[in-house]
Amino acid sequence: MNVAAPCRTAGEDAGLAALRQDLADAFRICHMLGWSESVGNHFSAAVSEDGKRFLLNPRWQHFATIRACDLLLLDSDDTGVLDRPGAPDASAWCVHGTMHRKLPEARVILHAHSPYATALACLADPALVPIDNNTARFHGRTAYDLDFGGIADAEEEGERLAAALGDKSVLVMGNHGVTIVGDTVAAAFEDLYFFEKAAQTLILARSSGQPLAVLPDAVAQNTADGWEAYRGMAERHFAFLRAQLPKLPGCGTQF
Ligand SMILES: [Zn+2]
Repeated sequence: MNVAAPCRTAGEDAGLAALRQDLADAFRICHMLGWSESVGNHFSAAVSEDGKRFLLNPRWQHFATIRACDLLLLDSDDTGVLDRPGAPDASAWCVHGTMHRKLPEARVILHAHSPYATALACLADPALVPIDNNTARFHGRTAYDLDFGGIADAEEEGERLAAALGDKSVLVMGNHGVTIVGDTVAAAFEDLYFFEKAAQTLILARSSGQPLAVLPDAVAQNTADGWEAYRGMAERHFAFLRAQLPKLPGCGTQF
């Protein structure tokens, strides 16, 4: 008689199960919105307080197919992880592992090459100029890394990106894409959503060739502060988006 192997998530607590489900749904929503990149790009979520244990998508698994139980639970102190079967993508391991360790308060890290955020990142001056509600949402919250050096698989890259991000929640990566950090998957995803919209608005406004009506700093800051009252939108929006996802086959667990 064949006995199915236990799911890798067997024995995990309800909090971790919920985090797995949220992160898995974020991948699929990202694809649904047209922002996946072949079988690349990576999202991660810290599991331990110190950020050393974290969830990450498996190497080269398409975003559209990722289930909660597919996510890898990794420990950045585990020096042999890249030598074992089922190893994560080396670049993701280096960058996300180092960023979670350096920035334990960054509970969720989403890295994407969404079209407008990437187009913005490819401008000589990729500053997200405040010109409306959505661009001003990120006023004072955005950092820039303009030292693109090709595809990174070294720990130094994670350290450089963590330093560039500092206490901000968005890192525009010049000639590359965007990385967003947040307290929860829903909060980080909402920022990814609004950053893409903000970049779209700015790119379209710039493409008109007309001068931009840039908001004064005080108005931009007031607008950014005003968004605080709307933090609850993130959970509602994420719940709506996940409800639109097609069903995936489960693996015999509670997922
Ligand atoms: Zn990338």
